[in-house]
Amino acid sequence: MGYSGSKTIGGNGARTASLYADTSSYQRKPVSRTTLTRLNNRGPAARARLSLLRIVRDTAVGKRVKALHDYACQICGVRLETGAGPYAEAAHIRPLGRPHNGPDVTSNVLCLCPNHHVLFDYGVFCVANDLSLIGLPGRLRVSRKHTLNSGHLAYHRAMWGQ
Ligand SMILES: [Zn+2]
Repeated sequence: MGYSGSKTIGGNGARTASLYADTSSYQRKPVSRTTLTRLNNRGPAARARLSLLRIVRDTAVGKRVKALHDYACQICGVRLETGAGPYAEAAHIRPLGRPHNGPDVTSNVLCLCPNHHVLFDYGVFCVANDLSLIGLPGRLRVSRKHTLNSGHLAYHRAMWGQ
């Protein structure tokens, strides 16, 4: 019985073992340079090419809001220090993208740490009009220089059934 010519590499170990056992005349041949290059370019794990359309969010508006809060998270107060300076994220209350079409204005932006940005974007917590938190204990930290639009807060609550 000769080599079946299957192009499957790896995969089902048992099938591979029986294939080798049944092919006494099969000899290993060096893998061609082209094949090696192709395999090496695959990287250590299966990869898929994705196309991602992401709205650029670090606008002048976002920078202004972060500066107003001195890069401290409006939920936990953490101010992340990095070698490149303090780091915070500008979180849009009513999302910018379709179908929400929120505006890129300071009254629609919160200054959050990365963790609270994710929790906010996934609706783990919302902000009531009195600035108390829904889903987390506590209240939103505010600045007199930064007014929020209660309509955008209501929109975010409605998105998450609050
Ligand atoms: Zn935080």
